[in-house]
Amino acid sequence: MSLSQSIQYAKELDDQDPLSHFREEFYLQPNNIYMDGNSLGLLSKKAESSLLQSLNDWKVNGIDGWTKGNEPWFYMAEKIGSMTSSLIGARSEETITTGSITTNLHQMLSTFYKPEGRKTKILADSLTFPSDVYAIKSQLSLHGLSPELHLIQVKSDDGRTIKEADIIAAMDDEVALILLPSVLYRSGQLLDMKALTKAAHDKNIIIGFDLAHSIGVVPHELHDWGIDFAVWCTYKYLNSGPGGVGGLFVHDKHLGKRPGLAGWFSSKKEVQFDMSHDLDHATSASAYQIGTPHIFSMAPLIGSLELFQQAGIDAIRRKSLSLTRYLMDLTKETLQPFGFSIANPTKDPQRGGHICLEHSEAARICKALKANGVVPDFRSPNVIRLAPIALYSSYEDVWNVIQILQDIMSNQKYKDYSNERNVIA
Ligand SMILES: *Cc1c(COP(=O)(O)O)cnc(C)c1O
Repeated sequence: MSLSQSIQYAKELDDQDPLSHFREEFYLQPNNIYMDGNSLGLLSKKAESSLLQSLNDWKVNGIDGWTKGNEPWFYMAEKIGSMTSSLIGARSEETITTGSITTNLHQMLSTFYKPEGRKTKILADSLTFPSDVYAIKSQLSLHGLSPELHLIQVKSDDGRTIKEADIIAAMDDEVALILLPSVLYRSGQLLDMKALTKAAHDKNIIIGFDLAHSIGVVPHELHDWGIDFAVWCTYKYLNSGPGGVGGLFVHDKHLGKRPGLAGWFSSKKEVQFDMSHDLDHATSASAYQIGTPHIFSMAPLIGSLELFQQAGIDAIRRKSLSLTRYLMDLTKETLQPFGFSIANPTKDPQRGGHICLEHSEAARICKALKANGVVPDFRSPNVIRLAPIALYSSYEDVWNVIQILQDIMSNQKYKDYSNERNVIA
């Protein structure tokens, strides 16, 4: 065993880790190693207390909680949007907390997708998340356009990653809008958003990104890169809780644009309660809200985002890369004989926050991991995603996961389970 394979080495890395103290802020369960924070982040004490404060505001103030109390509800979506903006390189007014990825995508497509003349197509990739594709197809249908002809999905050579050059080559003069993930949800590939945006704009094409797997783990410069719009969820790396309210970004060059899907929360705040039948929409990203915000599903974000502000997204990215590098190194040294392959891009600028292991017995290996105190993430048919999280995972956690996997494989413990996925996987 090399020095780097010893538990002492893992402990040394933890000792040198400037973010290690954040772990105490989270509810970690004893004898359980959580590697699924890219699907549902864990609860922090701060998120819990900001939610309880909002509940108390309701208890104490009733309807006056909209304008009084600890965090007045009428301004909460803007406040959290502003707290999120430093994570994505946006200005406060470009960011709003609202909806979910899918509803926000509908809003962005309704606002930005304007097929005209020959420019009618939407460009996406063939490995993208299903909900994004459903939203695009339904928007095309609403325009009376057939998804078969008008949705172009860039192919992958290896079934895992998409080449930026292939995406750029597909940007022809029939493309009206491009929607891409920042990080591919299976392989963890991080796309070069800056280069793709420049190429799209050179061809006069609107481009938006789905930041589900990058917000809270990868820094962004959405404003400076000139990205037209972006959407994200907050229950993954941002730890807002199940169904936590998502967010969207609209570049300030577009602010003032009429929301495709309007509602009274699209209003300028000063006139919303005039109850006019003519919408006077906000000139910030607030305009792309629709109805009353889901206060208790966004209140946890206030506490959670304080932790991100304290730690800083650059330090979070550094630790995340270092944790996943360590996980890949240990995998290569100890798990290769058992038939695992690393399916994520390995270079730092090309990967997000999780690693992707492929194995033909992945479903039952994941079940064995759960039974042995590790929470992984399975994606059918053969992918195990593991995400050590900068704010609450340790190098010792990573070391332990590898020990447990080694034990499961060498003692064939996975054979106790069927190789089929559960309902949620
Ligand atoms: C998690 C995820 C979603 C989920 O969308 P919701 O509307 O929040 O349920 C969509 N797209 C991507 C890429 C995701 O990773």
